[in-house]
Amino acid sequence: MAAEKGLDAETLNITLDSLRSYVKDKLPDEQLLEWDEKDEFPEEVVRAIGSEELGIQLIFIPERFGGLGGGAFDVYRVCEQMGRVDLGIATGVLATFLGSDPIVYGGTEEQKARWLGAIAEEGHLMAYGATEPAAGSDLGALRTVAEPVEEDGQVVGYKINGNKQWISNGGFANLYTVLAKTPKGPTWFVVDKGTEGLSTGNPEDKHGIRASNTSTLAFDDMFVEADRVVGGVEGQGLVQAQLVFGFTRLMVAAFGLGAGWEAMDRSIPYSVDRKQGGSALSEKQGYTHKLIVPHVVRLEGGRAYIEETAERLDSDEGNLNTEGAIAKYLSTEAGDAAADAAIQAHGGYGYTKEYMVEKIKRDVRITRIYEGTSEIMEMTIARDRWQQQLKTRGQYYHDKARELEAMHAEAPGAGANIAALALHSLAEVLERARVKRLTRNQHVLFRMGEIIAYGEGAAALVRRSICYAKGKLNPKADMRFKPPVLSAISRVYARETATKIAAEGMRWVASADGLGAGEVAAFAEAIRMNDIQEAQAGNIADMDLIADALYDRNQV
Ligand SMILES: Cc1cc2nc3c(=O)[nH]c(=O)nc-3n(C[C@H](O)[C@H](O)[C@H](O)COP(=O)(O)OP(=O)(O)OC[C@H]3O[C@@H](n4cnc5c(N)ncnc54)[C@H](O)[C@@H]3O)c2cc1C
Repeated sequence: MAAEKGLDAETLNITLDSLRSYVKDKLPDEQLLEWDEKDEFPEEVVRAIGSEELGIQLIFIPERFGGLGGGAFDVYRVCEQMGRVDLGIATGVLATFLGSDPIVYGGTEEQKARWLGAIAEEGHLMAYGATEPAAGSDLGALRTVAEPVEEDGQVVGYKINGNKQWISNGGFANLYTVLAKTPKGPTWFVVDKGTEGLSTGNPEDKHGIRASNTSTLAFDDMFVEADRVVGGVEGQGLVQAQLVFGFTRLMVAAFGLGAGWEAMDRSIPYSVDRKQGGSALSEKQGYTHKLIVPHVVRLEGGRAYIEETAERLDSDEGNLNTEGAIAKYLSTEAGDAAADAAIQAHGGYGYTKEYMVEKIKRDVRITRIYEGTSEIMEMTIARDRWQQQLKTRGQYYHDKARELEAMHAEAPGAGANIAALALHSLAEVLERARVKRLTRNQHVLFRMGEIIAYGEGAAALVRRSICYAKGKLNPKADMRFKPPVLSAISRVYARETATKIAAEGMRWVASADGLGAGEVAAFAEAIRMNDIQEAQAGNIADMDLIADALYDRNQV
């Protein structure tokens, strides 16, 4: 399915190319390491990326407000590219995207023209002020209060009091979107830098993304005019925040993907040069098949889900919050694990700063925390799909599995049959959990969230692989691998996922006392344990094929 909204492939490629050449000229590794070491926010660079010099901010601003009107797919490609360079700088750019999202999705036409126009023309930096000291994952617990100020019975403005925590660009933004409680509920306000009563704290001394600025905000009787209420109506804040999650989580997913791939792309040439035991590390299966190939496979699982979700967002299929959560979960977990493996792949050198993978690992860690932690993603995914499971009387994933079986009949080779096994198994695990009421254990619910995410990831990768083989992949998609290699990647992912679903599913059902004495064998049969083990045949050969492609040996 081609994206229906956004840039054409040529414009997107020009944007990505100019970003790459800017990075090559202005952001060499030594410079990035210096900012990291000094914990310095390179304000000029972040502003240059968002101003006329590069114009990245134009991508997410609609054309009628002076932007380029890019879609979710374009934003994903740009975020992936930025994630490859430096997640601190990328976070500085992301904060403007995030900060303006309540306006893009919830603002009146007048507000959009005023503030989006200012971002497009003047390259303003924005900050998104949602989190508070006592309200993180649970935003509903926020305490910042906006008290209406009335004149002649009319609300003319609001007096805001409270505090925000962990605000990216907090100390440097020209404009802030701030979530505060009004009598009708949480509401977004647009606040200018320098507004009386607004103060910002010292930059936080962070584990990673040290080139980003993170600070607290304090509001002390800060007065804002009534026209600063996003959308013009009080009480819409949490709804507006929900509207953007599908989109914003996709951006962070792309950060995880970009950073993880960068870590791999630094490990691959390193392992060609590094000789141990008489030959290059890249020649050793015990190295490539543990530290490189599985991570590439998982990153591509994340990519498949990101691309599918981006296309659906661009086709106006709704907010896709759950899909955004799955994309973020798969890609950021894969990115973080890939960066960790990259340190291992560099041995002692990976543990030093010079080879960059140490920094990438510290930086990518944040993607599992901000824009919703991985655990909150597990909860979001599980809760939504649990409803589907109930609504369809247990058929939701059986139906999806049957779709994959039909695809396999038409296009064998992408592992659709194995992904189908995984989804049949998932359906049985969920059904057992329903019958035995196991999700009253929060841990079981969250573990279901995890296996659901991987199951859906495997299905997305199969679809992407089949689409690619037919020459129907979105022209803006990443095409690093040739179709047969992507098919091998898809098969490996499907096998890993099927094993994970069956093994973890069995484990958590049994752990929560969902299997009576003597029921294990029958349940193993229901979740197709035997078939899943048989489907592992050929996995090593597929991993060999993927390694050959990554190392440019015997390319298919
Ligand atoms: C560098 C950085 C930049 C950030 N930038 C911004 C920004 O620009 N704007 C902004 O508004 N926010 C920003 N944040 C905030 C970020 O989104 C929050 O840190 C995140 O949502 C988690 O909230 P918290 O830190 O309060 O952790 P908590 O919500 O207290 O979570 C702590 C732990 O408990 C788990 N947990 C929480 N709730 C549950 C539950 N119900 N069940 C089980 N486990 C649970 C979490 O998964 C986590 O592991 C930023 C944070 C950082 C560190």
